[in-house]
Amino acid sequence: MLKKILYSLWIAVFLIFVFYTAKSANFNTFLDAVENKTFDLRQNMIVKSGYKKANRNIIIVAIDDASYEYVLEKYGEWPLPRDVYAKIIDLIEEQNPRMIAFDLMFVKSIKSEPGADEALANTFKKYDNIYTAMNLDNQSVELRKPTILPKSLSLPVTNYSLDIDFDSLSFLNCRSILPEIIKNTSNIGMINVSRADDGIIRKMPVFVKYQGEFYPQLAFRVGMGLIKREEGYDPPEYIIDRNSNLLLNNRKIYIDKDGGAILNWYGPTGTYQQIPMYRLIKAVENGQKSGYNFKGKIIYFGTTASSLFDIKTTPIAKIYPGVEVQATYVNNLLDNNFIAKIDKRITILLGIFLAAIIGYLVIHVASAAIVTLSFVSIYSAYIIFAYFIMKYHNMWIGIVYPLMLGLIIFISAFVVKYIIKSRDFEQQYLLATTDGLTELYNHRYFQEQMKMIVEQSKRYETPFSLIIIDIDFFKKFNDTFGHQAGDAVLRQVAQLLKQSVRATDIVCRYGGEEMSIILPNTSKEMSVITAEKICKRVAAKRFRLNNYQESNVTISLGVSSFPEDGETPAQIIEMADKRLYQSKHNGRNQVT
Ligand code: GH3
Ligand code: MG
Ligand code: MG
Repeated sequence: MLKKILYSLWIAVFLIFVFYTAKSANFNTFLDAVENKTFDLRQNMIVKSGYKKANRNIIIVAIDDASYEYVLEKYGEWPLPRDVYAKIIDLIEEQNPRMIAFDLMFVKSIKSEPGADEALANTFKKYDNIYTAMNLDNQSVELRKPTILPKSLSLPVTNYSLDIDFDSLSFLNCRSILPEIIKNTSNIGMINVSRADDGIIRKMPVFVKYQGEFYPQLAFRVGMGLIKREEGYDPPEYIIDRNSNLLLNNRKIYIDKDGGAILNWYGPTGTYQQIPMYRLIKAVENGQKSGYNFKGKIIYFGTTASSLFDIKTTPIAKIYPGVEVQATYVNNLLDNNFIAKIDKRITILLGIFLAAIIGYLVIHVASAAIVTLSFVSIYSAYIIFAYFIMKYHNMWIGIVYPLMLGLIIFISAFVVKYIIKSRDFEQQYLLATTDGLTELYNHRYFQEQMKMIVEQSKRYETPFSLIIIDIDFFKKFNDTFGHQAGDAVLRQVAQLLKQSVRATDIVCRYGGEEMSIILPNTSKEMSVITAEKICKRVAAKRFRLNNYQESNVTISLGVSSFPEDGETPAQIIEMADKRLYQSKHNGRNQVT
C-alpha cells in the first residue's frame, strides 16, 4: 500500500515537472541554449563526415581584408565607386554566369557620384540575373521616413501555420537603396538575419513583413530565380502549410516558430571557392580578363572580412560572417536540404517513454551495474539516432530534454528504490525482534539484550535490573473465560507494562504468559519500587475480556540486579526466576 503511494507520488511529481518545464519560458530558453550546442556538434560531425557536398557552382567574390585595404588605398574611401561594380558585372557577364548576387546594399550616399550610381543601375536593367539586397529595421520614423517599396519586391504568401510568429518579424522601417536600382529590377531581397541568444546564426528568416507585405530573403530570391530559369517553376503564390512547411513543388522549407529556416552547413570558410574582390577591381582597371571561369556559376559578392566582424557567427568553427551564410542558404534551397525541427510535443512524449523504460529497469532489475549500462546504452542509441536523422533526413530532434528527463528518472528511481528497500528491511527487522500478539520484544531479542547490557554494565560499572513477571492462575483464567479473553488480557498487561516504565527500559515477552523488563542503569532499590508500582497497577486495573466482560488479574514478580545477583545473564535470569517462584509461594500478587 505504502509502496503504491510512493510510486504514485513519484510519477506525479515527475509529470508535474514535465508539465512545468514544457510551459516555463525561462526554462525553455535555457534548454534551447543547450540544445543549440548539440545542434552545432551534430552539424560539425556531419560536415566532417563529408556526407553533404557543397554546390561547386557557387563562387564567392570576397570583400576580404585585402580587398578592403586595396579600396581604401586606391580610392581613399569606402564604398567603392558604383561604376566599378558596373564594370565588374560587365566583365563577369561576358562569360555567361548563371547569377550574380550582391550581399551588399547600394545605399544612397552623399559622396557617391550620380553618374556612377546610374551606371550600376543600368546594369540591373541590362541583365536579368543580377540580384542585390535591402534591409528592414525598426529605425525611428522621425529620423528616417519609411520608404514605400514597389509591390514587385514583395511576394504573395499565405500562411496556414499557427505556430509561426510573423509579428516578431514585422519591421517599421526600411533602409533605402538607390531608387534607380529599385526602378530597374525586382531582383532584390532582404538580408535580415536571426541570431540565437549566443549570437550564432543557425537559421535565416525566409520572409519578413513590412507595411503588410511579405519580403523574401535575398538568398530565397536568388534560389527561386535559379529554379524558375532551370526548372520553370514560378509559383503565383507561396503557401506555408499547417505543419509550417513552405511548399515549393518538389522542395519544401520548414519554417520554425520565429520564422527562420534552419540551415544545413556545408563547411567552414573556404567551402565555396573564394575570389578576393580586389583581383576583379584590378582586372577592370587594367582592362584585362578576369582570369577566372564564371561560366554557369552562381557568383555571390559579399563581405568575409574577419576584421569587420571578428566573431564566430555560424555553428561551423572558423567561419566568418556575411556572404557564406547567403551562399549556404542558396545551397540549401537548391539541394532541398533545409532542416525540419521535430515538434516539441513529440520530443516530450519520446522523452517520457524512454524515462519510463529507465524507471522500470531501475525498480525491477536488481543489478545496479546492468541498469546503469542499460541507461548509458539507451541514451547513447538515442543520441546516435538523433545524429543520423539529421544527417540523412534533415530532421532536428531534441536531445537535451529527453536526456534530462532520463537522468532525473534514473537518479530518482534509485532513491525511491532505496526508500522501499530500507522500509522492507525495517519491517523484517521488526518481525524478527517482536512478538506478534503483545507487540513486545521477543525472547531472542531479550537474550541478546541481556548479553549486551551485562557487557556494558561491566565496562562502565553501572548497575542494571531485571524484573520477571508471571500472571497468576492464568490456566484457570483461560479455562474460565476462554483463550481469546486470555489473549486480550495478555495484550493489555503488555501495554500496561510499557506505560509503567521508562522509554529506555526493554519490555519483552519472555514466554507464555511470562514477561520481563530490563531496566538499564537502575539499582535494586529503584527497580523494586518500579516492580511494586506495576504490581499494584495490574491488580487495580479492570481488563476488558470482550465486548461485555471485564475482569481483574494479578501478577507475581521477581527482581534481580547486577552486580549483586550475578555476573552473567544466566545467573541474573535464574535469580529473578527464583524470586518470582518465591512470590508465587508467598501467596502471589507481590514482588520479591
Ligand atoms: P501460576 O499462578 O502458578 O502461574 O498459575 P498458572 O495457571 O498461571 O500457571 P502457569 O504459569 O504455569 O500457566 C501457564 C498458562 O498460561 C498455560 C496457558 O494456558 C497459559 N498461556 C500461556 N501462553 C498463553 C497465550 O499466549 N494465550 C493464552 N490465552 N494463554 C496462555
Ligand atoms: Mg507461567
Ligand atoms: Mg502463571
